[in-house]
Amino acid sequence: MPVLLPLALPAPYDYLVPKGDHVEPGEFVVVPLGPVEYIAAVWRRAEGEAAPKIERKKLREVLEILDDVPKLPDVSLDFADWVAHYTLASPGMVLRMMMSASSAFQPPAPRYGVRLAGPAPARFTPARARVIEVAKNGLIWVKSALAEAAGVSPGVIDGLVDAGTLVTEPLPDWHAMPLDPSRQRAKLTNAQREAAKELLQNASDGFVVTLLDGVTGSGKTEVYFEAIAQCLKRGQQALVLMPEIALTGQFLARCEERFGAKPAEWHSGLTPSMRGRVWRAVAEDKAKLVVGARSALFLPFPDLGLIVVDEEHDQAYKQEDRVAYQARDMAVVRAHLGACPCVLSSATPSIESLVNVEWGRYRHIQLGQRYKAAGLPAIQAIDMRANPPERGHWLSPVLIDAVTETLARGEQALLFLNRRGYAPVTLCRKCGFRFECPNCSAWLVEHRFRRRLECHHCGKFIPIPHECPSCGAEESLVACGPGIERIAEEVAELFPEARRGLLSSDLTPSIADLRETLREIEAHEVDVIIGTQLVAKGHHFPGLALVGVIDADLGLAQGDPRAAERTFQLLSQVTGRAGRDVIKGRGLIQTYMPEHPVIAALVSGDRDSFYEREIAARRDAGMPPFGRLAAILITASARESAESYAREVARHAPQAAKIQVLGPAEAPLSVIRGRYRYRLLVKATREADLQAYLGLWLSEVPKARGDIRLIVDIEPYSFL
Ligand code: ADP
Ligand code: ZN
Repeated sequence: MPVLLPLALPAPYDYLVPKGDHVEPGEFVVVPLGPVEYIAAVWRRAEGEAAPKIERKKLREVLEILDDVPKLPDVSLDFADWVAHYTLASPGMVLRMMMSASSAFQPPAPRYGVRLAGPAPARFTPARARVIEVAKNGLIWVKSALAEAAGVSPGVIDGLVDAGTLVTEPLPDWHAMPLDPSRQRAKLTNAQREAAKELLQNASDGFVVTLLDGVTGSGKTEVYFEAIAQCLKRGQQALVLMPEIALTGQFLARCEERFGAKPAEWHSGLTPSMRGRVWRAVAEDKAKLVVGARSALFLPFPDLGLIVVDEEHDQAYKQEDRVAYQARDMAVVRAHLGACPCVLSSATPSIESLVNVEWGRYRHIQLGQRYKAAGLPAIQAIDMRANPPERGHWLSPVLIDAVTETLARGEQALLFLNRRGYAPVTLCRKCGFRFECPNCSAWLVEHRFRRRLECHHCGKFIPIPHECPSCGAEESLVACGPGIERIAEEVAELFPEARRGLLSSDLTPSIADLRETLREIEAHEVDVIIGTQLVAKGHHFPGLALVGVIDADLGLAQGDPRAAERTFQLLSQVTGRAGRDVIKGRGLIQTYMPEHPVIAALVSGDRDSFYEREIAARRDAGMPPFGRLAAILITASARESAESYAREVARHAPQAAKIQVLGPAEAPLSVIRGRYRYRLLVKATREADLQAYLGLWLSEVPKARGDIRLIVDIEPYSFL
């Protein structure tokens, strides 16, 4: 009897398994869908659900069973179903995220390495000697890794192959060095030891979420390393999520020191073949420790024993496009489904996590002291009304003095402004014309290094013109407001001797470049660092004494429910970079509203009352986590069709006591990439079944025609 099984790509379909074959849920197969062949995963039918009565002759056959691809473990299927249900995405969309490593589904291409086998070469140079010394362990080495380990150029390796000293041999698919959980433990301080003990207890009986809440530099990483070690000792896999994986060179090095080998990495910077190898190594339980961006959560771990979400408050965990999900929340779900512990780590936890602690759902471990004598930086606000910068400049005299003193002591200063480019707006002095993106409702941002005006929403750019396109006046264009490049220019003017390092995602596009710049900063080859939020996260810069925030009010101007929380977190993080080792740190915050609660909390260091007030405000307003939100975004290339469809959607909203539908309203960013945008906001109490409500609602809305799109975002973070 042939078996009928639903497949999930792009939605579940039924196929016939060829006579004599057998497939199981989680296995990968090739199937026809219309004229196209797809790789799909065999899905389970929900319990008790009957197979649909489809005539046999209408069913098409599975073309191929990919039995050399490791199958998805059951827990991955559970997870995909859960995420699909929660986000209202199709299971196929979630499955596609789980399969985002196309080369994993092809037979791995053989790769070759070298091994020491032959006699010493006739010509014996110091470089060659070093290679032989390193290769003595008898392992098969990737050529470039051997060259790096021996500190020689790749040519030396080739020379030794030619001489017959090294022989070429196929590399195993996954040849990472084994991790050693007890290799190099830090000697923990008393507070850290207590924290680690508690964490290990929490982590020893299945699903428990622990909020590891400690000031920057208190040793949270050292503490959760203990939990990783415990997990590895049990032979299970561990996953560490990081918000900005491009910047985790330092973390990889620390893992290597602690466990004797590098973890597997998972992020968008990997080559396709590396993605495939990591995917397989995870599925085959060979990769024991994975450090990754949010998408690593969707890797097919068969035996996951721990999830750590580092900097759990970070906005980067929220994905907005396609399947809109919050990776921190989904990490908790994944841990629950896999019955494993989850650690959320932060110096400035999210309101959501703190409230979960209050509700008794998460456990709470606090670390109040920095490691070593280094105290927390002293934070002061600079009232820009009393200490204005010079015309056309952005650094107040107070900040300039502080940088001067810092440099005179031979210490490093960091200036932070969360805005890429040179200037956010360019206008004509003669006629007032402003450069706007033709595709978006946004100004073009000047990028002086690249000599162009760019749109930060769609990527459109034009060269900086010499004359105004509107009135034709020459040399009449002026840059308004500061971006990071403009601050760098001002620093060059003020401190011509200082070595400057500029860190912004558009200036250092490759991960390797970024890691190199970070290394230079760490090695004190830079005196003044000028950076966007890239520098705020998790780095340890031992020589950094002063952090200056150029415009603390920037994030507060945004009117969304998390603006205050987000600004507090970002500015705490960035000022927390100062004074990490022996030197005393200092943070100076330029603001036009020093009395604002966020600024006041940063200055007083009174985090707890800030959080208390924020939590109370959210509770009063029924905002998350006290209530639930969903955003519905409707876009179309014509304003009328977007607007009228949005109204039609709103008209179909069912009545429900605990649920309120707001809108439609034109989105604050009313056009992006030439598409007009309308928003609806659904506000519900915690008890309401938001998914069921939305499911019912959307099933009654007529299908969107033409190029109209409807996107649902559960627990939205962006309201633009
Ligand atoms: P956090 O994650 O809380 O910001 P880290 O774990 O990164 O803190 O620690 C900050 C710095 O202090 C790191 O350079 C780390 O190596 C060092 N450190 C922390 N605890 C110890 C310890 N017990 N022994 C040695 N170094 C430590
Ligand atoms: Zn644009």
